Amino acid sequence: MPDDLAPRIAVIGGGQLARMMAEPAAALGIPLRLLAEAAGVSAAQVIVDHEVGDHTVLADLERITVGCAAVTFDHEHVPTEHLRALEASGIAVRPGPDALVHAQDKGVMRAALARLGVPCPRNALVTDLAAVEAFGFPCVVKTTRGGYDGRGVWFLRSSADLDRAAEAFATAEANGVEILAEELVDFRRELSALVARSPSGQVAAWPVVASEQRDGVCREVIAPAPDLAEPLAIQAQQIAMRLAGELGVTGVLAVELFETNDGRVLVNELAMRPHNTGHWTQDGAITSQFENHLRAVLDLPLGAPDARAPWTVMVNILGGSDGTARLYDGYPHAMARDPRLRVHLYGKAMRPGRKVGHVNAYGDDLDDCLMRARHAAAWFAGDLGEESE
Ligand code: ADP
Repeated sequence: MPDDLAPRIAVIGGGQLARMMAEPAAALGIPLRLLAEAAGVSAAQVIVDHEVGDHTVLADLERITVGCAAVTFDHEHVPTEHLRALEASGIAVRPGPDALVHAQDKGVMRAALARLGVPCPRNALVTDLAAVEAFGFPCVVKTTRGGYDGRGVWFLRSSADLDRAAEAFATAEANGVEILAEELVDFRRELSALVARSPSGQVAAWPVVASEQRDGVCREVIAPAPDLAEPLAIQAQQIAMRLAGELGVTGVLAVELFETNDGRVLVNELAMRPHNTGHWTQDGAITSQFENHLRAVLDLPLGAPDARAPWTVMVNILGGSDGTARLYDGYPHAMARDPRLRVHLYGKAMRPGRKVGHVNAYGDDLDDCLMRARHAAAWFAGDLGEESE
């Protein structure tokens, strides 16, 4: 490796989020070094300077961060004690362990939101089935740690569903985590307020978006959220900016919210890294979430988060169940049909339900953007037959 011309950032975890950090890193001339969980994973295909290692092993984290100015993450699974050890060794850990715990542990997050008076669903930590009954139905029970994409979340309509809570407790016990009960929110839709915050305290807030989740997995994002009342949009952004400051977040913070049918916003959860609901920013905003994340990690001035077009639609490409997916094979048709479409693939093999890429379509007409992005994502996933063309 040549001598660094700019500070080097270590990235822990080789998924698509790390992969997509590589693009602005290249443009800005910022060298990245990756700790990948296995050879050939998504980010290891594009970040030349990488090693395979285990993010739960301190020696692996120390090896990868030697000579780096800062360390950041593709996921939230690095143990807190390791983050503290890295900090003690003098490397800037961004986000730091005291902030990150709020994205790692839903119990800690709920307690902090209550302390700060931020609106969220009624909730309580529960230790047995009787406590779930006492909490009341309908409710949602969740593991406090380790859940993602809907894993670790159970919905209970009535006491007839208590066997689901029993499953939740068994999962929690097996993993040494706790169970949080929450009221089942009857929401109009899910929103996401995305901000980036630098250690100096500068904050950039992207427009609030609407996200559609199916089976706990993000499918589609519309930026900005259509017909969102301005006071609610401002409130959502203010919640995200305030949380970023109060919790000491450095880098991107995604605040997932429920918009209720009676016109309130409630915080569902926090993520402290670039987030699926921010992928639209790659093509639809002046500065993408990946670029501002890197700028924030190095405490550089942040780029403008303004939208480039009235509407941007992001649709995820998910592996289908029938194995008919056509990723690269889908390029000739997708590119010929829509030269304005932006395609992002992650270098991942298709598996049912796995996120393997996304498309962004932006323009003046929301219906047109929706139609183009949905068509392309369905085409890549193999959900459209040749005859439908
Ligand atoms: P994960 O860590 O898997 O993202 P979440 O806590 O975000 O878990 O829950 C996944 C999905 O479950 C949410 O996107 C939402 O659709 C639904 N959900 C979670 N909590 C509630 C709740 N209190 N009321 C209604 N739906 C919920």
